Amino acid sequence: MKVLNNDIENTIRCKECGSLIGYNRYDIEHGIQGMAYIKCPVCGEKSWLPDSDITITPSNITFPQHFTCHTDGVDISDEKINELIQDAIRDLQVHKDEDYYYCETGNLHVCAFRWDNDEVYHVVVTKDYYDCEVQYESIDCRGE
Ligand SMILES: [Zn+2]
Repeated sequence: MKVLNNDIENTIRCKECGSLIGYNRYDIEHGIQGMAYIKCPVCGEKSWLPDSDITITPSNITFPQHFTCHTDGVDISDEKINELIQDAIRDLQVHKDEDYYYCETGNLHVCAFRWDNDEVYHVVVTKDYYDCEVQYESIDCRGE
């Protein structure tokens, strides 16, 4: 028997390099959508710990840690982007009561907005975007 370290509460085997990693709660970090992980001290890869996830809220959201970056998504062609821009504008033309339209596909996020008393559509096209879902807190509830 061998005592490694009194601070170690758990162990996990790194799926990348096979190292057995001892860790405690202070070693746990939270990444995409609040998912918990341990960063391997040997190879630097993340080992995910699903039982220690946190809920992302307006109070704790942090960029870029909690966000998913869509840089690895399929690259969308300009031709397809132009189709999606037309879809966005057409949707707002048909749905006069809607203020925005958005579409996400591959590494692309397209959105279109309009504001009251304005006569323009504001269209945003971005690749390699980041996003995160944030749980409502009590102040955010609509009281419906
Ligand atoms: Zn490793």
